[in-house]
Amino acid sequence: MSSANATTNTKNKRHIQKLIVVALLAAAIIAFFAFDLSHYLSFSYLKENQLQFHEYYQANPITVSLTFFVLYIISVTLSIPGATLLTLIGGAIFGFFWGLVLISFASSIGATLAFLVSRFLLRDSVQDRFAKHLTRINSGIEKEGAFYLFTLRLVPAFPFFMINLLMALTTIKTSTFYWVSQLGMLAGTAVYVNAGTQLGQLQSASGILSLPLIISFTLLGIFPLIARKVLSVLKANRVYKGFKKPDKFDRNLVVIGAGAAGLVTSYIAAAVKAKVTLIEKHKMGGDCLNTGCIPSKALIRSAKFKSHVSRAKEFGFQTTDTHFDFKEIMQRIKRVISKVEPHDSVERYTGLGVECLQGEAKITSPFSIEVNGRTLTTKNIVIATGARPFVPPIEGIEEVGYLTSDSLWNIEILPKRFLILGGGPIGCELAQSFARLGSEVIQVDRNSRIMKREDPQVSEIVQARFRHEGIDLRLQHQPQRFAIIDDNKTLICSNKEGENVSIIFDELLIALGRKANVTGFGLANLDIPLTRQGTIEVNEYLQTKYPNIYACGDVAGPYQFTHTAAHQAWYASVNSLFRGFKAFKADYSVIPWATFTDPEVARAGLNELEAKEQNIACEVSQFEIDDLDRAIADEEAHGFIKVLTVPGKDKILGVTIVGEHAGDLIAEYVSAMRHGIGLNKILSTIHIYPTLAEANKYVAGQWKQAHQPKKILHWLKKFHQWRRS
Ligand SMILES: Cc1cc2nc3c(=O)[nH]c(=O)nc-3n(C[C@H](O)[C@H](O)[C@H](O)COP(=O)(O)OP(=O)(O)OC[C@H]3O[C@@H](n4cnc5c(N)ncnc54)[C@H](O)[C@@H]3O)c2cc1C
Repeated sequence: MSSANATTNTKNKRHIQKLIVVALLAAAIIAFFAFDLSHYLSFSYLKENQLQFHEYYQANPITVSLTFFVLYIISVTLSIPGATLLTLIGGAIFGFFWGLVLISFASSIGATLAFLVSRFLLRDSVQDRFAKHLTRINSGIEKEGAFYLFTLRLVPAFPFFMINLLMALTTIKTSTFYWVSQLGMLAGTAVYVNAGTQLGQLQSASGILSLPLIISFTLLGIFPLIARKVLSVLKANRVYKGFKKPDKFDRNLVVIGAGAAGLVTSYIAAAVKAKVTLIEKHKMGGDCLNTGCIPSKALIRSAKFKSHVSRAKEFGFQTTDTHFDFKEIMQRIKRVISKVEPHDSVERYTGLGVECLQGEAKITSPFSIEVNGRTLTTKNIVIATGARPFVPPIEGIEEVGYLTSDSLWNIEILPKRFLILGGGPIGCELAQSFARLGSEVIQVDRNSRIMKREDPQVSEIVQARFRHEGIDLRLQHQPQRFAIIDDNKTLICSNKEGENVSIIFDELLIALGRKANVTGFGLANLDIPLTRQGTIEVNEYLQTKYPNIYACGDVAGPYQFTHTAAHQAWYASVNSLFRGFKAFKADYSVIPWATFTDPEVARAGLNELEAKEQNIACEVSQFEIDDLDRAIADEEAHGFIKVLTVPGKDKILGVTIVGEHAGDLIAEYVSAMRHGIGLNKILSTIHIYPTLAEANKYVAGQWKQAHQPKKILHWLKKFHQWRRS
């Protein structure tokens, strides 16, 4: 027989065996329901026959025990609902100790048999089919399987039978499954058997108020909480193994990084009188103040002024002219930074009670940080080290040289042919600003549109404006390499037709996203896991693998905004300082953001694109801003407000605004969404005339119009006819 034939025979044999097992299982389950065996698994049945059971058990202890033991195993193997009830019944018949012994072994043996059946029937096909997705789970199970199963067993939140069936699909060993189940379920079983013993003694309604019964049921209720606490202590002990915890700590909290996230974290800690140290290796204020939001918004303002001047005729002026020195624009940006600087300064924070240290921090253990040769001990650490521009390893990039949002602010000469790689928010804001100041901007993106997270309609409006203002938009262009050709800095890209295109430029700006700062300060030594995006992995409380080490801001993601960094900082600070008493899950239910192009684009919640991707049904109400009096008066009559709502309900799912001051206008919707306010309430709010904010009300009006009570209006029409007659 050939080896191929042998394999086919083995497969067929296994297939038949599987069919037999399925048939036996099905027959057993059908028999259970057909003979109404569930009737015997009820507490009322036990109560009705309690005396007989008791007498029979006294007369035949071994037979009754054995029968119960076998029945218990069968019911668990078949995953028949009622294990909890059987446990209570076991307690009632056998008393605490003998009941616990019988049920502990029967439940573990039954669980292991159910596990084996599920493994025999399903594991191979599941592992084959989902091999790629299961690699990580399998390696996790190999390392942590026993502990993971133990946690599932100890906290009875996950259905018992599901654990049996699902764990069978992993690579956990049968022997490990058995002993961990036996150990993990012991405490829970004891609590239920104990409750059963009390129920067994319940003879009348007055018994319900007996102290032992109340204690037993209280135990039943609080057991999951106790189990969870025990688990978190066990987990904590595991991660801290090998580190010496100091007897006393110098500080309650050490914060690494003085950007938005670190500043707000330490501000809150100092406000609640904790001893907090903030360490910054570069400049207080981080990216937002020094190289991000503030300089970019200052540049946008100057560029906007220039664009208004060039639109002078629209405002009724015949001629206007601007002469400027780019250096002075850059100096203005520095002036703006220095005016904001005091808000984030060492002086201010020291005054608030934060100890500010200049230096590079290194985490040496979960309880100690090294800075400038000193070791600080601390009860908690918050990592707020931010992110940096991502520079792709494109051939020749170092040869031609490049700017990023870090280095851009030091240039003194306006780039002539300015190549900007990236069509995200930063690339777009800077492309338009430089184009307005007079650079010949070529913006390259590999996607078919800029601002790809927004609805296509948004991208189209911004793209049209960019092209109108002279930006050379090259979409679906994939950079291949940089080179200096005939003394010209050149980018060679492939376009959507697959042809090579050469773009000559004088300066290059890379705006292709930002990478979290996760190296150089001891994370690897502590084996702190990262996400696929390269940010630090945190739970909903912003804790890393070490419960006393938190991360927030750009380094933790998932958002990279100053306001989200500050929002997370509150959770990191409060959770780290008050852990054990109260912890809060970071709330990302309504996250707004804006891209400060002209027109501005602002969003909160879902857009149409995401609703479609996530299969969420929604209604769309849209108001065109070109109809708004104030926008017309301001020569800014363009853009729209789009509100997504739950079909037939006054519940807002998301808002997109495109237009002048979109980033300010959206605040009303952010509050509404945050506090569950609907469009009816926005419609009934007085908005000042004439303002751009009126558009918020008008879109609510459009929604209302679409939800007119047609029947009532029909009868009202008849009513008014009758009044006229
Ligand atoms: C051009 C540009 C424009 C932007 N515009 C906006 C905007 O309009 N609105 C908005 O919301 N967001 C904007 N952002 C994003 C915003 O700047 C960031 O989301 C925000 O700065 C994140 O704050 P953070 O505290 O997490 O990190 P950061 O501000 O990056 O701060 C991290 C700090 O940690 C320090 N640090 C790192 N490692 C160590 C160490 N080992 N020891 C000591 N110190 C260390 C760094 O020096 C840095 O100061 C913009 C970003 C850029 C680049």
